Amino acid sequence: MEPVRVRFAPSPTGYLHIGGARTALYNWFFARQNQGKMILRIEDTDSERIKEDSVGQILDSLEWLGIDWDEGPGRGGDFGPYYQSQRKSFYTAAAEALLQSGRAYYCFCTEDELKAERERQREAGVPFRYNRKCRDLSASEVHKRLEQGLEPVVRIKLPDSGQTVVNDLIRGNVSFDFDQLDDLIIIKSNGLPTYNFACVVDDHEMQISHVIRADEHLSNTPKQQFLYEALGYPVPQFAHISMILAPDRSKLSKRHGATSVSEFKDMGCLPEAIINYLTLLGWSPPEEQSEIFTPEQTICHFSLDQVSKTAAVYDINKLIWLNGQYINSYGLEKLASHALPFLIREGLIDNDTADQNHDYILSVISTVRERVKTLPELAEASRYFFKDVTEYDEKGREKYFRQKGIEALLAKCRDRLADIEVFNPENTEKVYRDLIEELSIKGGLIIHPTRLALTGRTASPGLFDVMVILGKERCLNRLDRAIRFIKAEKTQ
Ligand code: GLU
Repeated sequence: MEPVRVRFAPSPTGYLHIGGARTALYNWFFARQNQGKMILRIEDTDSERIKEDSVGQILDSLEWLGIDWDEGPGRGGDFGPYYQSQRKSFYTAAAEALLQSGRAYYCFCTEDELKAERERQREAGVPFRYNRKCRDLSASEVHKRLEQGLEPVVRIKLPDSGQTVVNDLIRGNVSFDFDQLDDLIIIKSNGLPTYNFACVVDDHEMQISHVIRADEHLSNTPKQQFLYEALGYPVPQFAHISMILAPDRSKLSKRHGATSVSEFKDMGCLPEAIINYLTLLGWSPPEEQSEIFTPEQTICHFSLDQVSKTAAVYDINKLIWLNGQYINSYGLEKLASHALPFLIREGLIDNDTADQNHDYILSVISTVRERVKTLPELAEASRYFFKDVTEYDEKGREKYFRQKGIEALLAKCRDRLADIEVFNPENTEKVYRDLIEELSIKGGLIIHPTRLALTGRTASPGLFDVMVILGKERCLNRLDRAIRFIKAEKTQ
């Protein structure tokens, strides 16, 4: 069997969109499952659409997601260069071969002529097709025009009739009528190849066995298939992945919120959660498997024939839910490395002291992570571990700080806590249990106000865990402050 070689071939026109990331991911699953090679090729021949720095962004996003490639930018490989802008000689040679064999021809029609023809066909109510005017120019006529310095395009001669069938691994057989297809341009007048041509030449030169890509390219595939045949190249296998739609079933775009990997990163999503989400967006795991699985598990089970033929509908809530699951199950150190930029961004820690406080940061994160779904939420839930409490939740104040005698009760708690020698969860809890019993009061009467005093909030992780992380001194200070606050409120 031929070795599996797949490619992800982004055009550097912006950030890595989640649709592109999913295409890369499915290629990657397929390569890894088949001990094949994943090739990254940058399709940068259309200089008008290229955005500066886009390649860097795309590579960073792939790396951050953990989708690695075997050949391509930063990796090298035997089939380079991996930027189409550096491969012009391959395209010129292939076009030359087609011209020689009579499968392609120079077309000298000007923009104005094509425009007039387009207009004429529009009036006649037919979809535009090039009228093939230059198809039968004599060799001497072509020579003469080239001598005059005219800059023609090169077109491929497509059959007038008949059909071509694309055998797609996801969609099955899809047939296209040649009379619907144009004599497409393969080399533009500036000497650069069109997408369809460069793609075929490169996929052949790079020995790609499977072309797995977005289904917006399905309509290009009959043209490409024809080019393979005309060039005498073996045709690779094709698999077209259905679109990702917005919840309103329109095309997913900026107006639906975050659409690029870097935006999801900024929103505090973890790479594995995005991978898991994209995996499910168009592919169904075998029955009885949970919805949460690592890339390694997917690599075992992935198969192109389980990829959905219908469009997938994007659901941000599902992604956020998955993210929460990953925040909970991640290795603590790894979670901390992802969370740190968010703690810094919120002004809770700074870069210089993060190392010294490493253990403290880990204990905070391990305590708050159960309650959060994103990294900004994690930062917000950690705030009182890093910043003094200067305000108290308003409802909590009404409910817990207005109770009769509460300042005296809190003072009792404070003094007992002050006496603890080993400030651990058992001993702090014992202080409260003993007081509750001695005073015959309900636990909530002192536990809720203590929480409000220590965190400023009415909800937190287990109070005694919070106390121990904060440490004795801060707990006593915060209780003192709350007692002063309550007294001041009462005298007003
Ligand atoms: N450069 C094309 C794109 O970004 C890739 C198409 C293909 O995979 O053939 O859509």
